[in-house]
Amino acid sequence: MSYIENGEFSFSHQNIQQDFNLLTSALDASISGIIITDNQLPDNPIIYCNRAFELMTGYVRKEIIGHNCRFLQREDRNQQVREKLREDILAGRHSIVEIRNYKKDGTFFWNELYVSPIKNKEGVTTHFIGVQNDITRRKKAEQELERERELIEKKVIERTERLKVSQDYMDSIVQTVRESLIVLDRDYRVLSVNEHFLRTFKVSKSETEGKTLYELGNGQWNIQALKDLLEKVLPTNNPVLDFEVEHDFPHIGTKLMLLNAHRIELEGEYKDRILLAIEDITDRRAIERRKDDFLSIASHELKTPLTTIKGYIQMMNRFMPETATDKFKEIVSKTGQFVERLSNLISELLDVSRIQTGNIELHREVFDFDEMIAETVEGIQSACKTHQIIIKGSKLGNYNGDESHLIQVINNLLSNAIKYAPDSETVELHKSLVSDYLKVSVIDKGMGINHDEQKKIFERFYRVSEIQTKYPGMGIGLYVCDQIIKNHGGTLWVDSEKGKGSNFSFTLPLKERSEND
Ligand code: ADP
Repeated sequence: MSYIENGEFSFSHQNIQQDFNLLTSALDASISGIIITDNQLPDNPIIYCNRAFELMTGYVRKEIIGHNCRFLQREDRNQQVREKLREDILAGRHSIVEIRNYKKDGTFFWNELYVSPIKNKEGVTTHFIGVQNDITRRKKAEQELERERELIEKKVIERTERLKVSQDYMDSIVQTVRESLIVLDRDYRVLSVNEHFLRTFKVSKSETEGKTLYELGNGQWNIQALKDLLEKVLPTNNPVLDFEVEHDFPHIGTKLMLLNAHRIELEGEYKDRILLAIEDITDRRAIERRKDDFLSIASHELKTPLTTIKGYIQMMNRFMPETATDKFKEIVSKTGQFVERLSNLISELLDVSRIQTGNIELHREVFDFDEMIAETVEGIQSACKTHQIIIKGSKLGNYNGDESHLIQVINNLLSNAIKYAPDSETVELHKSLVSDYLKVSVIDKGMGINHDEQKKIFERFYRVSEIQTKYPGMGIGLYVCDQIIKNHGGTLWVDSEKGKGSNFSFTLPLKERSEND
């Protein structure tokens, strides 16, 4: 039988007393606060507390013993866990709760309270043992974790919202564009198409989305060359540019389509996707063809009467009466010169249409390149009083090529140099042999050409905008020259700086080249 005296358990037997002292010092050594309450006394008072309990709560033993442990809650009574605690105690069950408690100095702490009933032989709960741990730090960390989690959740929601907005934004652009657009995944499966695509190809969404590009329609895009190009889009970021497909499409018949494909440059949700734009250029190409046909027919038609006029002028020269005045002779000679110019312009136009249809033919024969240059320069020089053409460099020797076409190139480059350098007095022609090429450069100190336009001037009908009204021309000379030089296996290019002059150069291979060179 035990009784409590000065807060210590007393036993009749000496050994038991020793054992018990050992036990209480063990309890005192515990870092958990431990109390024992007597359930058989009114208001279930605390009859034992260890050192840790004193340290944890800041109260001393005499302020603890005899009190019900609710003093630890102070005024903070409205805690739901108390309900559970009360129920468990009433039922004589173990209970574990996290409860808000206050130290003597008023400091709040979270108490993880474990309550365990002690029952006598009859099963009546006589005492309770309460083990408590200050879990404020853990709770704080948990709460912070919770706050972090909530914050992340909020961010995720916001990001999803933003993505949705940008997806809507992208969708609206894709839908508005007046070009057929397909978005492909990395396996070339159609993720989405725009309205314009559906209208153009007269198909429904279900016929396209989810299928691979190559199985669409009657296999119109199942082209090895296109596949090879598309395969490079994602790994190398090389776009597919202006790939033409002419095909008899289901529902819409034979059409010419222009394909451009780019990797979509958005990270995250949209990466590894390809945007394929398809443009129907059937009508545009037909118009271009008609324009070319017109050009070809018109220049042919103009050439015929001009040849007759040329003949008549020759006759006029031959039958010129002795008595003809100088004025009259000059008029006939001028007429001859202008008719010659007109004939050259028409020949250039004819050249353009021949190039377009791939009908430009080379008539190669061996000729003296230096002599050809000298004669061409002489021809221009005789009609040009404003500039002096200076020939420099080394002898080039014989060359096997189309002489009349190459005369045309030299003529064009020199005329341009004179035309676009109105304030200069000289134009230079430089000849050299470089490895197994001959090189000719025509150098002027005129207006020069903007860097952006240096490539475009070799396109047909392209003229630098600011000079269009000041200087006559059709914008085809360089296009024709470029084609002629290319046909000979050489290259034509320009080095120029705006306001400082231009240097047009071409090279021609001296040896006949094989197809693979
Ligand atoms: P055209 O002289 O009839 O306009 P070209 O095809 O010979 O046509 O030349 C195309 C354009 O290139 C010209 O309109 C001019 O803007 C530019 N260009 C050609 N040669 C020169 C040059 N030597 N200096 C400056 N600009 C030039």
